Formats: sequence, structure tokens, C-alpha cells
Amino acid sequence: MTFEQWLRQSALPKNEARMLLQYISGITRVQLITQGDAEMPSETAEKLEAAAQRRLNGEPVAYILGEREFYGRTFAVNPNVLIPRPETEHLVEAVLARLPEGGRVWDLGTGSGAVAVTVALERPDAQVRASDISSGALETARENAARLGAAVEFASGSWFDVDRPSEKCSYDVVVSNPPYIEAEDEHLRQGDLRFEPQNALTDFSDGLSCIRALAAGAPEYLKAGGWLLLEHGYDQGEAVRNILSDKGFARVETLRDLAGLERITLGQKPQSFSDGLS
Ligand code: GLN
Repeated sequence: MTFEQWLRQSALPKNEARMLLQYISGITRVQLITQGDAEMPSETAEKLEAAAQRRLNGEPVAYILGEREFYGRTFAVNPNVLIPRPETEHLVEAVLARLPEGGRVWDLGTGSGAVAVTVALERPDAQVRASDISSGALETARENAARLGAAVEFASGSWFDVDRPSEKCSYDVVVSNPPYIEAEDEHLRQGDLRFEPQNALTDFSDGLSCIRALAAGAPEYLKAGGWLLLEHGYDQGEAVRNILSDKGFARVETLRDLAGLERITLGQKPQSFSDGLS
């Protein structure tokens, strides 16, 4: 069978079939046009058929290829980590805009490390820490930092309760893309999400419990004037603004993604911080 013939007979959407073909055979898009009538080596054909079958069973393309592009760089991904979303590039931009020269950032629940590694590479002057509760995720994030040459300090644990003690009141930015999908949300049982780590997607509760924990814990680690930035669901903006305001954050606002949906809420730790308890 030729490359062209395989593409034509594949049951996959054309763009996905082409992506798998190019990745597995190593031929470029131009070669596919100019040499598409060449015979495919049988080994390539077998690998391609296996990959196509996985996709037909619903597995996300990123897991089949083992990589996904984020902010112009290629990140290794696997079922231990969420597949980086384009919306999260916006979270990176919001961090970069608020990070002073030589500033310190902590990315909690880093997953593949997409946010932490990107910030470290875009801003070599910054000190970046990344943590996750999942050892499989941390391993992937470390691999991505090493492959891309990013200086990131890693810690393991649940939110602020990590194995490496962290200096109090020392961060300029605390950032997270936490699990924020409600336990009952039907999307968890549809499409790509079925294959992603459930504990990276949902808090198995009302979708806001991790956001509450992050907003409650962040002031202890933020400098006065430092920022907390959280990604959340399109319909959670108001709830997240209320949580941040209740926890004593100032200048609370929500940023929209390219689709115009509320996606990132941020707040600043005021100079004289009061958590509302004292
Ligand atoms: N944005 C993702 C989705 O809806 C969820 C990411 C997350 O829970 N942090 O598919």
C-alpha cells in the first residue's frame, strides 16, 4: 500500500490520519504530496495500523504520539498527565506579565510541567518551583524540564504540603491549573477526558474545593503584593472571584480566553493582609 492509499482508506478524520502518518513514518507534509505514491514499508504500515486502531478506540492523539505542543515547544505527555490545552497558554502569559525581574513562581499541580517549564524558559531570570501529588506527573515534568533545558525546582506533595519546605512570604506568583470539573459533569465520561487522569480533571466534589485550598494556602507563601493566578471552568468565574475576595485578596479580576469565556481569575495579596479571621 502507498502512503496516499493508506490515507484514503483510513476511517480516521483526514487531519488525524495525516498526523499519525507523518509522525510514525517520519515523512514531511511536502514529501507526502510529492512522494505519496511511494510504497509504505510494511513495518510502518503495521505501526500505523496499530496507532490508528488506538485512535479509533477514542484515545487522544497526544497520548498516541506521546507529545503535544504548548507555547511553541514540544512536551512529552502520557496518561499520568493532562494534555496541555491552548487556554493554558493564556495562564502562562498572565504569569509572565506579573512576574518581576528575578521573581519567584510556584506552579502547584504542575502535571506535564507545561506552565512551570514554559515560564522558566521564557524568563531565565526567574526562580521557578513546580509541585504535584502524582509521582508519575512529577517524573514527566522533570523529563520535560530536562529535555527542554529549563531550570525548575521540583517538590512532591498535596498543594502547599510538600516534601521540600518552602520559605514563607517569598513568592511573587503562585499559579495553578487545578482539577476544577465537577464530579457529576458528563464531560468526564466523554471524548479525550475519558483517557486523562481523573484526579487532574475533577476534585470529585463541586469543582471548587482545590481552588478553595489554593486560595486559603497561597497568602502564607506569597510576598505582599504577590499574585495568585488560577485557571478554572468557563462558568466558575464569579464563584472563584468570591473565594479570592473572601480569603482577603485584592484587585480580584477574571481574564477571558480566546473564545471569550471566563478562564483565569487572579488576585493580589495586599500589603496589610488579613484573611478575614483576625
Ligand atoms: N480545561 C480542561 C477541560 O475542560 C480541564 C482542565 C482542568 O481540570 N484543570 O477539558
